[in-house]
Amino acid sequence: MSDDSEKIKLDFIRQIVAGDNKTGKWAGKVVTRFPPEPNGYLHIGHAKAICLNFGIAAENAGGLCNLRFDDTNPIKEEEEYIEAIKEDVRWLGFDWGKRLYYASDYFEQMYEYAVRLIKAGEAYVCDLSAEQVREYRGTLTEPGKDSPYRSRSVEDNLDLFERMRKGEFPDGSRTLRAKIDMASPNLNMRDPVMYRILHAAHPRTGNQWCIYPTYDWAHGLEDSIEGITHSICTLEFENHRPLYDWFLDQLGVHHSQQIEFARLNLSYTVMSKRKLLQLVEEGLVNGWDDPRLPTICGLRRRGYSPTAIRNFCKVIGVNKFNSTVDIALLEHCVREDLNRTSPRVMAVLRPLKIVIDNYPQDKVEQLEAINNPEDAGAGTRKVPFSKELYIEREDFMEKPAKKFYRLSPGREVRLRYAYFITCTDAVKAANGEVVELHCTYDPATRGGDAPDGRKVKSTLHWVSAKHSLEAEVRLYDHLFTKKNPDDIEEGGDFKSNLNPDSLEVLTSCRVEPSLAGAEPLSRYQFERMGYFCVDPDSSEKRPVFNRTVTLRDRWAKIQKAQKTR
Ligand code: ATP
Ligand code: MG
Repeated sequence: MSDDSEKIKLDFIRQIVAGDNKTGKWAGKVVTRFPPEPNGYLHIGHAKAICLNFGIAAENAGGLCNLRFDDTNPIKEEEEYIEAIKEDVRWLGFDWGKRLYYASDYFEQMYEYAVRLIKAGEAYVCDLSAEQVREYRGTLTEPGKDSPYRSRSVEDNLDLFERMRKGEFPDGSRTLRAKIDMASPNLNMRDPVMYRILHAAHPRTGNQWCIYPTYDWAHGLEDSIEGITHSICTLEFENHRPLYDWFLDQLGVHHSQQIEFARLNLSYTVMSKRKLLQLVEEGLVNGWDDPRLPTICGLRRRGYSPTAIRNFCKVIGVNKFNSTVDIALLEHCVREDLNRTSPRVMAVLRPLKIVIDNYPQDKVEQLEAINNPEDAGAGTRKVPFSKELYIEREDFMEKPAKKFYRLSPGREVRLRYAYFITCTDAVKAANGEVVELHCTYDPATRGGDAPDGRKVKSTLHWVSAKHSLEAEVRLYDHLFTKKNPDDIEEGGDFKSNLNPDSLEVLTSCRVEPSLAGAEPLSRYQFERMGYFCVDPDSSEKRPVFNRTVTLRDRWAKIQKAQKTR
């Protein structure tokens, strides 16, 4: 499933593009766009759309992909989002070059196009309130009713529309509507609203406008103005396509082809920007880049690599049916990439001290450790070994359960890159908790093998007590307890499915000294414990790590189970 794996069959959108190139429909041009509305941060679903649009442009000679901010709604949009979106698209590995556009730059052109439709008798100013418009619209089973303002003269419409623009009318008092068909079986074609009055300042156009275009009116025009060939959007716009086509046909302008694909849904998380915003605003997560969120900046902070996300998007493919992808597949993709690329280190998350009784008091040995067994070029490093060490608390059992092969009284195990040790005694606190172990080591086993050929059943990771650094480690679990967070009791709310244990903070972990000063966002494998990423909250003295993912691959298991079925 890696980058260089077997050639994947072209998805239906790439087939369309290839077909168009063959027939010369667009004279060999391929121009796509990624058109986020700057009203939130990007998430993994957007990554799917980004990989698709930028990917198709890159795969075709001379192909282009625009980054376009669809900033037609002044109310919810902010500069902060624009900068974050640019950063995320760049981080994912895509480059729009000079092709950065804003829908708001086309407001004047859109206005002129609207005037053209009015003159052609295809649009009219309507005085019905929003509620009345809804009433007149009819239902799926009943046709709508014509607005009493539908037959206004072209002159009256031109006059009123101009005065709408000038700000003569209050919000909601009038709209400009397309004159199509109030009996159309497609509700989107029942005289849809093109402009509404909204006396609100826009982040980019300020107070220049007090009428703003609706999505349906604006989007096709944006595509047309930019000369987009393939306008790729998600399935919910499928029954808006006749309207998209109608507007462009009436105007007789460049007519991009709208193609819909299924949006990405992931289990155990939410993707709606409205819901993500709610979690952030209500403090239920720690900001947009909380590592539990499916936002791009959250995944980045969690330790996901752009390669892992791009591979995931490749593996899930593109199709026309809505479905939910198992989050285990995303985790599988990051594991696969990090296995190849991340240096191994030793870190003890829940330390238990051990004293090697027969090791000299002040002796320190620098033992050689392999940085990445998957990458010979990654070399080796030295890890200090001394009389007092920490091992993982869960690697010791006073009374070993069946199949527990790790340390227990009288048992011999290997310390990775070091020696065989045997536990001789467990020191307990008054409450019975084991607080320290005494062990002996066999000097002949340096490097991890016994000259007499004797075997041990397990190898533990460890750090030297006095050389290791104290670290904080944040362990994450799914943000929601339910596969589908929207699966709620009546009257309930998706937030009632939040997982109370989605974050566990361990404050007295010990990591090997090579991690001193590790750069924020650098990624490591903690041997036997999983993949971890340096959090920007780290200080020189005290690193903070986020667990990206454990080593256990639930996805590989699922696949194996499916194969043997
Ligand atoms: P909103 O709820 O505000 O409409 P949106 O998720 O549609 O949000 P946009 O900013 O309009 O967000 O999305 C930009 C592009 O990303 C669109 O072309 C949209 O189709 C695509 N996109 C958004 N969510 C997903 C998703 N879950 N899977 C695939 N593509 C998506
Ligand atoms: Mg949208």
